[in-house]
Amino acid sequence: MDQFPAYVITEPGPAALTSVTEADLPDGDVTVDIAYSSLNFKDGLSVTGKGKIARRFPMTAGIDLAGTVAASDSPDWKPGDEVVLTGWGLSETHPGAYTTRQRVRSEWLVRRPESLSPARSMAIGTAGLTAMLCVLELEAHRVRPADGEVLVTGAAGGVGSVAVAILAGLGYDVVASTGRPETHEYLTSLGAKSFLDRTVLGGEVGRPLQPERWAGVVDTVGSSTLVNAIAQTKYRGTVAACGLAGGNDLPATVLPFILRGVRLIGVDSVMCPTEVRIEAWRRLGSDLPLDVLDTITTVRGFPEIPQLAEDILAGRVRGRVVIDVA
Ligand code: NDP
Repeated sequence: MDQFPAYVITEPGPAALTSVTEADLPDGDVTVDIAYSSLNFKDGLSVTGKGKIARRFPMTAGIDLAGTVAASDSPDWKPGDEVVLTGWGLSETHPGAYTTRQRVRSEWLVRRPESLSPARSMAIGTAGLTAMLCVLELEAHRVRPADGEVLVTGAAGGVGSVAVAILAGLGYDVVASTGRPETHEYLTSLGAKSFLDRTVLGGEVGRPLQPERWAGVVDTVGSSTLVNAIAQTKYRGTVAACGLAGGNDLPATVLPFILRGVRLIGVDSVMCPTEVRIEAWRRLGSDLPLDVLDTITTVRGFPEIPQLAEDILAGRVRGRVVIDVA
C-alpha cells in the first residue's frame, strides 16, 4: 500500500514526521497530489504545538497546498487539474498539507491562476491571500492612493510583505511598521516609502484620538499597535485587521469610530467565501509582479518544517517560505 510522509499531531503537542497510507486519508471527493505547501504563523503554532490549532487527532499539519488533482468524484474537477487550497480548516478540523497526497472537499479548491506556478502560488498562500483580502477591503471602502499614507504593520512578515508589495504596486504611499531595521532595504525594494519602528505603535496605548495620519491600515499585529493605528486613522479612513502577532487584545475606545467615522474591518481568510477567493486570486495573479513575489520568497525542504515553525513564531522569518513537499 502507498505510504506518504506527513507531519502529524497525534495528541496536544508538536507534530511528528510519520507516514500515512491511502486508507488513512479523510473523507472528501477530490484527491490531490501536493507539490508545494507554505509556512504561515498558524503553521508555526500548529507544528510546535504552541497553539491549539488541531481540534481532533490524529491531524496532519499544514494549511496551504498547491497540487494536481489525482482523482475526483466531483463534476467540477478532473485528474490533472491544477489547484490551490488555503484555509477551510486544514490542520484544524481536516487533515492538512504537510504531506504528499491529501483528500479534500471539491468546493474548497480554487483553480490555480495560469500566471502563477505551483511554487509561486504557495509563495502567496494564506498569507498572500489575506493581504489581498485586506487590500480589497481598503478599496471597497474607497481608500484611494491620493488619500494619503497607508500603514502596514508586521511589515516584514508574510502578510505584511505581500501587503506592502501590492499596495505599493497600486500606487499607495506605504509606511511599513517593523521591529527589524535590517529589513528596511528589503521593504524598500517592495515599495515601502518610509518606516516606523514597531515600538512606536506597539508601546503604550496613547490618547483615543491622536493626530490623523493614515488613510488606510493593514494590521497584522493587533493589541496596542492596532489601537494606536485606529487612533491615528484619518476621518472615514479604513483599518483592515487580520492578525494577532502582538496579541489578541483590543484595549480601545469607541471615539475614533463615532467621532471620525473610522471603519474597522475584520479580515478572515479561512472561511472566506469561494467567490471572494476567486476574485482575490485573480487580483493576485494580475497585481503582484512576479519579480517582486520572488524577492519575498524562500523555498525550503520538507525536513526543515519543525525548525521553520519555531523560526516563524520567534519572528525570524522574512517574507514568505514555500515548502517543497516532494
Ligand atoms: P509572520 O510571522 O510571517 O509575520 C508576523 C510579523 O509580525 C513578524 O514578521 C513581525 O514583523 C511582526 N511581529 C511578530 N511578533 C510581534 C510582536 N510581538 N509585536 C509586534 N509585531 C510582531 O506571520 P504571518 O504573516 O503569516 O501572519 C501575520 C499575522 O496574521 C498572524 O497573527 C497570523 O495569525 C495572522 N493571519 C491571519 C489570517 C486571517 O485569515 N485573518 C491569515 C494569515 C495570517 P516585523 O519583523 O516586521 O516587525
